[in-house]
Amino acid sequence: MTSPAPSKANAAASGPADKEAHKPSNFLRQIIEKDLAEGTYGSRRWGGSPGDAAHHAAGQPDPARVRLRFPPEPNGYLHVGHAKSICLNFGLARDYGGVCHLRFDDTNPEKEDTEYVNSIKDAVQWLGFGWDNKSPAGHESNLYQASDYFDFMYRAAEYLIEAGHAYVDEQTVEQMRISRGDFAHPGTDSPFRSRTPEQNLARFREMRDGLHEDGSMVLRAKIDMASPNINLRDPAIYRIRRAHHHHTGDKWCIYPMYTFAHPIEDALEQITHSLCTLEFEDQRPFYDWLLDRLCEGGLVATPHPHQYEFARLNLTYVLTSKRKLAQLVYDHKVSGWDDPRMPTIVGLRRRGYTPEALQLFAERIGVTKSDSWIDYSTLEGALRDTLDPIAPRAMAVLDPIKLVLTNWDAVMGAGKLDDCSAPVHPHHPELGKRSFKIGKEVWIERTDFEETPPKGFFRLFPGNKVRLKYGHVIECTGCSKDANGNVTEVQATLIPDTKSGTPGSDAVKVKGVITWVGVNDAVQAEVRLYERLFVEAHPDAGGKDFIENLNPNSLKVLQAVVEPSLAAAKADDKFQFERHGYFAADRVDHAAGRPVFNLAVGLKDSWGK
Ligand code: ATP
Ligand code: MG
Repeated sequence: MTSPAPSKANAAASGPADKEAHKPSNFLRQIIEKDLAEGTYGSRRWGGSPGDAAHHAAGQPDPARVRLRFPPEPNGYLHVGHAKSICLNFGLARDYGGVCHLRFDDTNPEKEDTEYVNSIKDAVQWLGFGWDNKSPAGHESNLYQASDYFDFMYRAAEYLIEAGHAYVDEQTVEQMRISRGDFAHPGTDSPFRSRTPEQNLARFREMRDGLHEDGSMVLRAKIDMASPNINLRDPAIYRIRRAHHHHTGDKWCIYPMYTFAHPIEDALEQITHSLCTLEFEDQRPFYDWLLDRLCEGGLVATPHPHQYEFARLNLTYVLTSKRKLAQLVYDHKVSGWDDPRMPTIVGLRRRGYTPEALQLFAERIGVTKSDSWIDYSTLEGALRDTLDPIAPRAMAVLDPIKLVLTNWDAVMGAGKLDDCSAPVHPHHPELGKRSFKIGKEVWIERTDFEETPPKGFFRLFPGNKVRLKYGHVIECTGCSKDANGNVTEVQATLIPDTKSGTPGSDAVKVKGVITWVGVNDAVQAEVRLYERLFVEAHPDAGGKDFIENLNPNSLKVLQAVVEPSLAAAKADDKFQFERHGYFAADRVDHAAGRPVFNLAVGLKDSWGK
């Protein structure tokens, strides 16, 4: 038995190259290039950590030319949409001499799970990125959590109140909803809108001190109740919520709203380009309004960050909502977040996706300013294209039936085994060869034999000749059946002097070549075949219950036989099973002596059509 020569596919994942090949431009690259050319952010200073205007003013000129951030909420596992955002943000930072922060957006006092925090960190690093950056001041770890900024957010809220830009509103939720108006009607002022800053400050402090019920009042920005942008009609910025926060405990019973918190997080971290998905476009005026006010008050450094929106990833046959993915997990529709059918990063990884494949996918889909759907095959194509040049080849028989070479003993000698070999990779002779043995009995695919062949069938049927790949030409002579008429064994005779690679071996012409595994050195393996998790391209479109669109055939488990080189496969190793597709040794269940392979993606052209 030989193991495949080490190959790049199965070496430890290496990070993205420093020297990137020329990348196609996009609107975000153009914005960054223009800002760099014009020195938009050239005057920024960096205090070595997030902070207010004074903190950064005391620092040095920012060694990072741009700062971006990836700000997940730690409330689930990241999915392929987040992978796009990670590749985008960290990729732009890398390409333009900047840094990208990983920021846990944990301002919502929900139960955070360290499981989620850790999985997010793993996902970013596995994709080839990191938050540990070098700076002239030394090492800088740009890993942050937004709840660290609660004190500053509170201070910013008090500042807005004092400057006459915010007020405490005691209307009911329903009153507020009605007075907000709609697209056709301007809103009307709250009766609480004309309170003095002193009154508002006193009230807000009472909110903070726990003197009022949850939901009894909110702090609102005082902007314009008649604004055509409803988000500027005095949005709520702080609410009362008696909730235990996993980091700040019970210190606060008021929490900032996301739309208030997010711009502040960006500003404290000196983010230059704050990228978000298109849903936030209508929030941009408030983002700017808020940071303009805080700059006026000298609370945050100028120039403040700017928000740019790009289209989120929508992928056919795939859900990209953490909440809906969580439902699949908790309802046991899949085996867990890392089920190989899940579009989570852990699921894709277990399926056999590589960081390179996801980076290539992100590059190919690019970034645009309008929503669209990406075909699932684009994701699969990126995987195939990255695995094809590097994955070692192997033969596997997924649905085995025994083929007996009835003249073997006479032609080759009783009990004799003949050595065969094949390249580890057809385009990389330097990777060496794999070897296996052929004997009197071999396993072949059940579908490679037809007693009565349909038109155009070139594989085994009585009287037809095919080549056993890397082996000999054989001629089918018949089959045996059980009482029910099911084929239990196929018989053939070996044609002497036709072994691949020997002189004159191609004298006998055949139309079909089939893959096989010798009974003598076959390795038993579990093979898990996957199909798309949903039968509908848009499983949750129009409020449809996506559970009803689950594909009942998305997982098929087979007891297969594989060539002996695969006995040395280690968890996560990727292979091309010739004729079948790309397979990965399962990260969780694969073990020496008990191999388990996942179908990562099929070959482009299906065999034997
Ligand atoms: P979900 O609705 O699945 O929870 P989310 O947007 O609320 O997604 P966050 O943790 O808030 O998840 O997202 C972190 C970052 O990932 C955000 O900057 C967001 O823009 C980005 N992101 C999330 N989903 C996608 C997607 N489908 N395509 C591109 N970027 C995405
Ligand atoms: Mg979110």
